[in-house]
Amino acid sequence: MPLSANILQSLHSIVGDTGFVTKQSEIAPFLVESRNKFHGKCDALIKPATPQEVAEVLAACNDHDIPVVPQGGNTGHCGGAVPNGGILLNLSRLNHIREIDALNATISVDAGCILHNIQTAADQAGLYFPLSLAAQGSCQIGGNLATNAGGIHVLRYGNTRELTLGLEVALPDGRLWNGMRALRKDNTGYDLKHLFIGSEGTLGVITGAVLKLSAKPKDHATAFLGALSPADLMEVFALLREQFGEELTAFEIMPRFGLEISIKHMTGTRDPFHTPYHWYAVVDIATSRPDSDLQSDLEDALHPLFDRGFLQNATVAQDMEQANQLWALRENMSEAQKREGGSIKHDVSVPVSKIAEFIEETSHMIGNIVPNSRICAFGHMGDGNIHFNISQPEEMKKVSFLAHWNDFNEIVHEMAEKVGGSFSAEHGIGQLKTEEMELFRGGVELDMMRALKQTFDPNNIMNPGKVIKDTKGG
Ligand code: FAD
Repeated sequence: MPLSANILQSLHSIVGDTGFVTKQSEIAPFLVESRNKFHGKCDALIKPATPQEVAEVLAACNDHDIPVVPQGGNTGHCGGAVPNGGILLNLSRLNHIREIDALNATISVDAGCILHNIQTAADQAGLYFPLSLAAQGSCQIGGNLATNAGGIHVLRYGNTRELTLGLEVALPDGRLWNGMRALRKDNTGYDLKHLFIGSEGTLGVITGAVLKLSAKPKDHATAFLGALSPADLMEVFALLREQFGEELTAFEIMPRFGLEISIKHMTGTRDPFHTPYHWYAVVDIATSRPDSDLQSDLEDALHPLFDRGFLQNATVAQDMEQANQLWALRENMSEAQKREGGSIKHDVSVPVSKIAEFIEETSHMIGNIVPNSRICAFGHMGDGNIHFNISQPEEMKKVSFLAHWNDFNEIVHEMAEKVGGSFSAEHGIGQLKTEEMELFRGGVELDMMRALKQTFDPNNIMNPGKVIKDTKGG
């Protein structure tokens, strides 16, 4: 049902002209998700400028049973920020850094702050905010919190959840919860912030956050490694972790196919080696010790790995420019994959010890169904998070390949679960994986989630149909 003139007028009076958009041509760019898989619709795009405005908008929508879809930078991969009616609540005007307390090593921010701006503000204060992902120039911290984003430094610093001390949240009934406490210890009953982190906008709208900052790394080294198999790279990972402990900040893997398409499609990239290898890893170590020489430490640590047959080749970046070039090979891969025709993508996690088995067996099963499928299983090996992406065979029609969507999902997700993993690692559920939620998290777990949803949002106005299937009317 379209929104009535009365309700549109109330929303307009809350957010004013700048925050109120009903012209469909102006709304259209906000309705498509980054992978172009989901296309939405809504009656109004509402952009509040303060937490109070967010709360008032929710109160008005709750009174009239109007669905509200919170939206950050719209870089999510699961269609979570794509509306199917009602209003789209875009947080981009809520974008102030509220306070940096350098002594407490914390930063308080509005939820609509772009991740990169938070990193910069921390840097200017002589500190470091470690959350880092390729979308950091456009994703917002509210979106990172709502999806509990991971990225490349989880190995050392944890997911967004581990970086968060306090939250401010507008509840569906229009109340504003101020949990903006900058405390590392606060055992006062249930830790409510954790309910909203990772809830993908289904329980309330995050309007502010207090985030932990860390000491700035003073020295840093990057290596690009060539190996025969994921099993060999797992050995390399384990040995580097033993040697460097928490100074090992990233360990990312990619197959030859991933490197090839990065080089083919992205200008300014080149193969770091003269010989091709089946598998590669990008490794980062960093320290805040002032007297270190990580570049030579890393070179020394890699030598014995050749003798033991785990490594075939390695290059250690000599400066930041070279390090960025090596990282670009990994970071550009998703973009490059878009230019290789149809692809079916997955974001799973498995215990690190099971990665090789998972990749090998799953690849084999996919190949049995569509021979010559080009498998691009890459990602955050250090966190057990594999993006098991499959590109169509070159000779196959895109539409015929994409017809295997459900079969491939079943294989990949069931294999992940079989080895003790999860069908959703860091991207969340959105509207993409609600079936899998029923399948793999049914029973007690889903019952508890439904009970929470019912408690916080009895009218089911918050992002209905996302994460768990609609709670109202079944
Ligand atoms: P959106 O896409 O706008 O929203 C995501 C979900 O959060 C939606 O359900 C939305 O309703 C909800 N939401 C947004 N803001 C709020 C709020 N203030 N309150 C309540 N709910 C809200 N993700 C990773 O985890 N790791 C990666 O390494 C990674 N790399 C990426 C690389 C690229 C190139 C791209 C395009 C995406 C990548 N992503 C990655 C996915 C995406 O960037 C993250 O999920 C990010 O956290 C989403 O933030 P956003 O602001 O764009 O949120």
